[in-house]
Parts: sequence; structure tokens; C-alpha cells
Amino acid sequence: MFQFFSYYSFLIPFSLLCLCHPSLPARILPEYSSTVIAVDAHTTTTWHGFTRFLDAGKGSQVSGMSELKKYFSRFGYLPIPDTNNFTDIFDKQFESAVLAYQTNLGLPVTGELDSDTISTIVSPRCGVSDTKTHNATFHATKHFAYFNGKPRWVRQAPVVLTYAFSQNNMIYYISLNVIRTVFKRAFSRWEQVIPVSFMEIENYPSADIRIGFYYGDHGDGQPFDGVLGVLAHAFSPENGRFHLDASETWAIDFETVKSRAAVDLESVATHEIGHVLGLAHSSVKEAVMYPSLSPRSKKVDLNIDDVNGAQALYGSNPNFTFSSLLASEKSSNKGTGLRNTRSSKWNISSLVGVLILFLCTR
Ligand SMILES: [Zn+2]
Ligand SMILES: [Zn+2]
Repeated sequence: MFQFFSYYSFLIPFSLLCLCHPSLPARILPEYSSTVIAVDAHTTTTWHGFTRFLDAGKGSQVSGMSELKKYFSRFGYLPIPDTNNFTDIFDKQFESAVLAYQTNLGLPVTGELDSDTISTIVSPRCGVSDTKTHNATFHATKHFAYFNGKPRWVRQAPVVLTYAFSQNNMIYYISLNVIRTVFKRAFSRWEQVIPVSFMEIENYPSADIRIGFYYGDHGDGQPFDGVLGVLAHAFSPENGRFHLDASETWAIDFETVKSRAAVDLESVATHEIGHVLGLAHSSVKEAVMYPSLSPRSKKVDLNIDDVNGAQALYGSNPNFTFSSLLASEKSSNKGTGLRNTRSSKWNISSLVGVLILFLCTR
């Protein structure tokens, strides 16, 4: 899911300005971005440094590009080299990784580190790899996906999965009761479309789905990375581990939480439940299962793509109708205006960028 347009509305035009300034060589860009996208005092977003690779082309060598390759490797796009070290060269293999990434993230498939691609790369996102069961082709239809082997919960009907919160790994600035309500709502969205129900229990070790907030390295080989960057991850069926990064500023209501790095707990919970059920990442930007989410944004309504993915695994809830889904999406979009607002902001920022570029090349 998860875009980062609000900050990059400023960043992209600014990057273009720097690129066309005669005293700044295109391949050695200054570390200007930390002041542009600072989230809170003394805090910058994970991955913000990748903005300096904007427009780095095939065959170029840019100091630090090996770090960007590690990012691609982490999310399933590049194998770790035999030497264990990535080079700083934009080679053919890296171009293939960029093409696959753009395809999976529903971006224009250019093979270049263009502004759309860079702004998506630096967006906060889910830690689950984008590897899919089907081989991505460059003209693949945008679609939901599954984990390798298409695992699902195999239980006798009626399927009831239990969940519990880890008492020792919670956040304390949101009450447990409020967290419980948020997760209940998130689980109920999936319950409405498939014949699976979820029940909270107290006994954490015996629960099918085990939820907790963790800092940094927490013992499963997938350490969290502090503010923004990776927000959460969950494991495929029937593992049931569901981990959220305790370093995030989790929010229920943006009216009361003012941090620009605040992340909507319910949106992330709804997304991670999709993984728990067996869905991998979707290339449909509007889908809950899209991998990235901008801070201070909410995406909790299942998209038709999410519904199709879940129902292909479990069948349909007998009470579910597509018209009820459309009605609920329509009313919620009317309430938040999220999708429309986001795209219009982006269009305006693109326009400003082009205008600056035009002015400074005259
Ligand atoms: Zn995910
Ligand atoms: Zn974990």
C-alpha cells in the first residue's frame, strides 16, 4: 500500500532544481534531502538517502548504490552476490531488478530510477518481501498475489482463527482496549468477505495469530529499523506471527496525534492480516495489500483486488456481495477523500517541478 506523496511533493521539484543547477554535477548530489524531508526534530526517515540516486542511469557508478541494491535484495529483487558485497554500479542485473520492482509496485515500467520509482522506494512500507508465486512479466496485469506454494489455513469449517496480544510487547501510549477495538475492526473487514472468523483469546502461546510490537532485532531474522522505513511484518500461513515496529508513532486518530511520522495502526493491521491469511503484495495501488503507506494516511477498506485474492484462497462469505463492498468504498471515500486528494496533490507537485525545471533551464 503506502505512498509518501506529501513529503515528496516538495522533494521532487527540489531534486530537479538541484539537478539542473550548473555547479552541481548530476552524479554527485549533495545530502540536501535530510533537511527537506525531516519528519520530526532530529529524526529523518529511513531510506531518505536513496533520493540522491534520482535519475542515475544504467552504466553509472554512484557511491553508495550498493545500499540501494541491499534494499532491492531485502524485498526480493536481487540475489545476494557470491562476494557478499554489492557494487555501486548500475548494471544490467540491477536494471532487471528495477523493472521487476516497477511492475510489482504498479509504476511506469522504465527501468530507470525516475521520480515515481524513487518516491515509492523511500516510502514507508511493509517488511514482507514482494516475491510472488507467479513470475512477474513486464506486461503482467496488476493483481493480488500469494506466497510461494500458496499456503492457507487448512481447518474444518466453520474456520475460526484465534488471536492474542503479547502482554510483554505492547505500546503503552494507546490503551489495550483501544488497540483491541482497532484490531477487531481490522479482522472484521476480512471476516465479511471470506468464511473465516477471528476470535481474541488471552492465552498468547496457544493463539493461531500472535500480535506484538517489537524494537529492532527481535529474534526472527527480520529486524525493524526505527522510525518509518519498515512498519510491520507478518508471516504466511500457518505461522501466525504478526509483528509491528514499536519505534513507529502509531496513531488511531490523526486529529490528536500531530507527528508527521504518525502511522495509522488500523491500516497496517488490516494489511498484515492479509499476509496472515496468505495474501502477498498486490501491484494495485488502491489495494490494502499494496506494500507501501504514507505517514498520516488511512487505507482500511478492502479493494476488490483484496477481496478477489482472499476469496480465491478461502471462498466467499455467503453473506458477501460486491455491491455492499462498492457501497462501503463509496461512502468511505466520500468521508475521507483520500484517494482523490492524494492524486491531485501529486499532479500539482509534478506541475510545480516541471515549471521549476523550465525556469531554470532558460
Ligand atoms: Zn505487506
Ligand atoms: Zn518479526
